Amino acid sequence: MDNRNLRQLFSTSSPYNIEENDARFLAAMQETVKQVWNSSPEYRALAATFSFTPQALRTIKDLERIPPIPTLYFKRNDFTLKHGIGVEVTSSGTSGQFSHIRYTAAELLMLARMAVTLGRFHGLFSGRPVHYVILGYQPSRHNQMVISKTAYLSTWYAPALSRTYALVRREGEYRLEAAALVRRLLRCSQGRQPVRVVGFPSYASFLLKWMKKKGKRCRLPAGSCALLGGGWKQFAGLEISKEELKELFWDVLGIPAGGIHEFFGAAEHPVLYCTCGNGHFHIPAYGRVLIRDTATLKPLPPGETGLVNLLTPMTASLPLMSVMTDDLGVVRPGETCGCGIRAPYLEILGRVGAAGLKTCSAGAQEYWNR
Ligand SMILES: [Zn+2]
Repeated sequence: MDNRNLRQLFSTSSPYNIEENDARFLAAMQETVKQVWNSSPEYRALAATFSFTPQALRTIKDLERIPPIPTLYFKRNDFTLKHGIGVEVTSSGTSGQFSHIRYTAAELLMLARMAVTLGRFHGLFSGRPVHYVILGYQPSRHNQMVISKTAYLSTWYAPALSRTYALVRREGEYRLEAAALVRRLLRCSQGRQPVRVVGFPSYASFLLKWMKKKGKRCRLPAGSCALLGGGWKQFAGLEISKEELKELFWDVLGIPAGGIHEFFGAAEHPVLYCTCGNGHFHIPAYGRVLIRDTATLKPLPPGETGLVNLLTPMTASLPLMSVMTDDLGVVRPGETCGCGIRAPYLEILGRVGAAGLKTCSAGAQEYWNR
């Protein structure tokens, strides 16, 4: 089932021009909703409880009428409407609950275009070969977590001289090879080729604090930078602030604040968000974010704090059109950032009832504390 509007949306060359992309977004969403509606009796039943039908989606304002489905629903229900040929991604999680999402080749191509467009916009491409130090899992056929794939994908923005992973698979299990990683960084600081540190912000903070404690500081060559990101949850409840993390990068590795780029995305919301020069996540053309009242679930005006509801027309293989997270956040008008991007930006403030839900960030801390 071809969704021409979806293809057009994902091939936009102005990823933060809202006016230009609103009509395409709506048209793509209408098509995706129709496809999911037609192929899934489960979705029709669920939509009925919200008195929602595809005909209700007429204007961009109507996006709020699409039933928001909690991310936990996808972790518990492994239901796939159509099996495309392509890659399956699994969301991060240590509790044994995963979301399985399968993309067709055409959809993967659209996602790749998104990554290229945003990479260009944010100046992530470089022709100069770099050493990658990846604070994450070495990819393998045993590991389909979306984070290791995004970490691997972000090593395509500049040619790789080498890739060194923090978590290496040996004898059937992942082992943290911290000492080897630090040796690698120190050796790179003696050379001339830039280094790109890729991975979770939480892992980066544990590594940098550990290096600082052990007195292992270095100055990485000019042009070195950090590409931080992974799961959505990686930004909620970080023990240290973004400012502290930036200071650590400068203090321990000599990477300036301007060289720190953050990303986020989630298995249940395949849209890439990248920080602007002021460190804000402006909402790109491929997604929309609604903030809902925690009690009534009614959409809130900009500037008010509530539950983060993520929308995208990407894929009809699961009803990912409107996903309800358990994160608290706020959407602010783009103009209040000052970087020049006019699209509104999202700030994640924390989680609702975080107890009981273990994320990969918690897992990481256990590793580094050993
Ligand atoms: Zn900005």
